[in-house]
Amino acid sequence: MNKRSTIQRALTLETVKKLQRHVTADEVYDTIVKKYPNISRGTVYRNLNVLSELGEIRKIEIPSEAVRYDYLCHEHYHVICIKCGQIFDVEMEFIPDLEVRIKDTHGFEFTGHDIIFKGICLECNLQG
Ligand SMILES: [Zn+2]
Ligand SMILES: [Zn+2]
Repeated sequence: MNKRSTIQRALTLETVKKLQRHVTADEVYDTIVKKYPNISRGTVYRNLNVLSELGEIRKIEIPSEAVRYDYLCHEHYHVICIKCGQIFDVEMEFIPDLEVRIKDTHGFEFTGHDIIFKGICLECNLQG
């Protein structure tokens, strides 16, 4: 890996951490490009993928929503607001034996799971 791509990857990671939210690839790109106008969207997307494969960030896949990236890497659950699409962390104990309990289902070998709760966030609720 050359020096330039190392720097770009570090920059991508730093941006995800700094934004401290569950960001989309576009939000990460929009933030980086303000400071570094020469970086391409493809580079940022590629770096996000690499970083999630390395376990530096967490990729959250939500049906019919853009993929989000999370700077918190430990196992945790999420709740999505059905009005504004914001994603919040759910502070509850991860259920470690969930996969064990359902392990014989269809002979599957589970590689992981995501639980996304749905609701309306405080802000949207207050707006009526
Ligand atoms: Zn909301
Ligand atoms: Zn999270």
